Amino acid sequence: MKALVVEDEKNSRMMLSKILEANGYEPIEASNGIEALEKINESRPDIIISDIMMPEMDGFQFCRELKKNEILKNIPLIFYTSIYKDEADEKLAMEVGASAYIRKPEDPKILIGIINKVLKDHRSGKIGTLELTDEKEYLSKYSQTLFKKLEDKVLELEDANKKLETALSELKTVDRLKDNIISNVTHELRTPLIHASGFLELAIDEGDKSKQGELLKKSMNALEREKKVISDLIEISYAGKGLLSHVIEETDIGTLIKSTVEDLRPKAEAFEINVRTSIEEGLIVGADKNQILHVLNNLLDNAIKFNRKGGEIEINAGKKDGSIKVCFKDTGIGIPPDKLTNVFDKIYQVDSGSTRRYGGVGVGLAIAKYIIESHNGRIWVESNGEKGSTFCFSMPGENNK
Ligand code: ADP
Repeated sequence: MKALVVEDEKNSRMMLSKILEANGYEPIEASNGIEALEKINESRPDIIISDIMMPEMDGFQFCRELKKNEILKNIPLIFYTSIYKDEADEKLAMEVGASAYIRKPEDPKILIGIINKVLKDHRSGKIGTLELTDEKEYLSKYSQTLFKKLEDKVLELEDANKKLETALSELKTVDRLKDNIISNVTHELRTPLIHASGFLELAIDEGDKSKQGELLKKSMNALEREKKVISDLIEISYAGKGLLSHVIEETDIGTLIKSTVEDLRPKAEAFEINVRTSIEEGLIVGADKNQILHVLNNLLDNAIKFNRKGGEIEINAGKKDGSIKVCFKDTGIGIPPDKLTNVFDKIYQVDSGSTRRYGGVGVGLAIAKYIIESHNGRIWVESNGEKGSTFCFSMPGENNK
């Protein structure tokens, strides 16, 4: 039994031929209506399975030509289409004389079932040959269908265009952010080194021992800042790869908070910021001390850095429902509501512009989030615009591990 496959897309054509072959048919192939009419004359197929959207001569025109031909009009034709899927398309397909209409993709078994049935019904005379509709009426319906498809295509293209424009503008933003990040990180790495070498040069020429000592100390502090930037960058890359392991031991959160406050007191005093604490007794957790210190240090350092001169910081730590909750409330510049979740992203800064006033490379909170979550805890921020921010974290208490 010969089956003619009319399909412009090579892979679909091959696939359909293979399915037909596997089910006992001898497939013949054509890539459009004109080629199909030639092949029909050469080899007289028993059935035709045709796509609709094709170059040169589409399926509707091909079927119309076939049914106009007194000798060939009895060969049954099935439309198999992925584009002409509307009810109006199906109606026109049947009006031009198709014996069946199938929407792609169809399960091969069902497809073969329909082809077999069409052949059988033709043989038994169940499906007759349709009377051709008037040419004018056909052309009007045909052009309407084409027009509708064209309209759909234009809408589809407009939609795709909009999506492309959005993607392009997102890409431009990402590109700009990447440039800012590179220049920020470079700046944060270069500045302490320039300071350190400057102080060292001065120290070499300084005759007064005590002044020389002060200069060396300043150089040392600058190098410590450099070390912190580098170790933050290393830490976030380790965290991203899941390589940041921790040593869990019994840890008193209250003691760690007090020591963090003492460490950063000189910086807070330099900005005339008052730090108040309210810490409950016995806040014991199973945790990696150094990592928790890192989190506390980052939260307090940010609360100072993003504060206003003469501002306040309130640290509250206590127990709640078996968890330990610690909050840092500041009277600083605050965070816009739409950026609240982003601040925990890697290398993210609310203000990453070139005129940025604050130091840092934007990884501290991402590290803090990683650490807290790997201790089965949660970290979050609340901010009511410009009145300041409150960063909190909670983690299971010692009895709740
Ligand atoms: P860095 O401080 O190095 O920029 P972080 O990861 O610690 O990086 O913080 C990310 C960003 O979140 C900061 O750049 C800042 O925009 C915002 N942020 C963090 N803490 C505060 C805060 N207390 N007040 C206002 N903004 C903050």
